[in-house]
Amino acid sequence: MMTREELIGMLGAPFSDSETDRELFAEAVRVRNRAVGDQVYLRGLIELSNRCRKNCLYCGIRNGNSAAERYTLTDGQVLAAAEYAWRSGYGSVVIQAGERTDGVFVERIERLVRQIKTLSDGELGITLSLGEQERETYRRWFGAGAHRYLLRIEASSPELYARLHPADHRYEKRLECLGWLKEEGYQVGTGVMIGLPYQSVEDLADDLLFFRNLDIDMCGMGPYIEFPGTPLAEAPCAFARDERLRLALRMIALLRLLMPDINIASTTALHALHPQGRELGIAAGANVMMPNLTPAVVRANYKLYDNKPLQDMDLRGFNVALDSGWGDSRHFSVRTAGAPVSALREK
Ligand code: SAM
Ligand code: SF4
Repeated sequence: MMTREELIGMLGAPFSDSETDRELFAEAVRVRNRAVGDQVYLRGLIELSNRCRKNCLYCGIRNGNSAAERYTLTDGQVLAAAEYAWRSGYGSVVIQAGERTDGVFVERIERLVRQIKTLSDGELGITLSLGEQERETYRRWFGAGAHRYLLRIEASSPELYARLHPADHRYEKRLECLGWLKEEGYQVGTGVMIGLPYQSVEDLADDLLFFRNLDIDMCGMGPYIEFPGTPLAEAPCAFARDERLRLALRMIALLRLLMPDINIASTTALHALHPQGRELGIAAGANVMMPNLTPAVVRANYKLYDNKPLQDMDLRGFNVALDSGWGDSRHFSVRTAGAPVSALREK
C-alpha cells in the first residue's frame, strides 16, 4: 500500500519525467484490467439546467454570474435524451444540474427518474449529480429509481475548501450529504478539482487518501480550468494547464492503484485541455466516460469553465471495449456484501 510520502513523490515528480508517468499509467491499466476488466462504461450526460442557488468561486454558472444565459430543459428534452441513450446502447444516464432544493424541483426530478425508468423498461441506470439536498430528498429520488450519486468534495482539505467557496458553503454539510447518500443505499461518487489556486501536491495526496478513507464507489475528478470573470480566475495557480492535465492523469492512475475496483471517470475537463484528453484518462486507468447528450441548442450555456468542449468525441474511432451494461461499481458489491437485498439496487 502506498504511503502519503510515496504519493507526494509520484505527484510531484518533474513533468519532464515522462518515462515514470508511462510506467505508472501502464501499471494502473494492468491493475484496472485485473480488478474490473478492460471494458469502458458509457453514461449519457444530460445537463438539465444551469440555474444554481450557489456561488462557488470557480464556477461559470454560479448564481452571481449575471452574464450566464440561464436555461432549464423541458421534460420532453430530458426524456428524448434518455431515450436516445437507451436506444444507442448506453447502460445509463447522468442527470446533472446547478443546485436547487425547492419542492417543485425535487418533485420534478422524482417524476423524471420514474419516467426514464418506464421508457427504458427499467434498463437504463440513473446517476444523479444535483448537489446538496435534504436526506429525505435523496431518499425520494432513490425510491424513484436513481441508484448512483456524484457529489464532489471539490477539495478534501477544509482550509482549501474554505478558500474556494463563500462562507455560507459548508464543508461539513457536503461531508454529511456524502454520508447520507451512502446510508440511503446509493453507489456514491466524489472527486476534486486538480491544479487549483492554493493547492499543493500534498493536498492532492491527501485527496487520494480521503477517497480511500471514505470508501467511495466511484470517482470523477478533473483539472481545474479558469472561467474568466469568476472570483477565482484571477488567483495564481501553481500549475500551468498542460501540467494540470498530467497531474490529473497521475491522480487517476494513483487512485486506481489505491482502490482497484472502483469506477473512475475520464472527465470532460480532460477533454477541454487536450483533444484526446478522455482517451488519455482511460489509458491512465479510468473506466467510465460520459458523452454529452444535452441538446445542442443549450449546450453552450452550461459553461463551467473556459473552452468546455461542445462537440463530443467520436466513439467509433475509439479503440477500447465499450460496454452497454449499467457498469455498477464492483467496489459497491464488495462493500455491501451481506446487506439486506431490499436496501440495494444493482444490476
Ligand atoms: N451543482 C452540482 C455540484 O456542484 O455538485 C453539480 C454540477 S457542478 C457544475 C459539477 C462539477 O463541475 C463540480 O463538482 C465542479 O467540480 C466542476 N466545476 C465547476 N467549475 C469548474 C471549473 N472552473 N473547472 C473545473 N471543474 C469545474
Ligand atoms: Fe452551482 Fe455546482 Fe457550479 Fe457550485 S459547482 S456554482 S453548486 S453548479
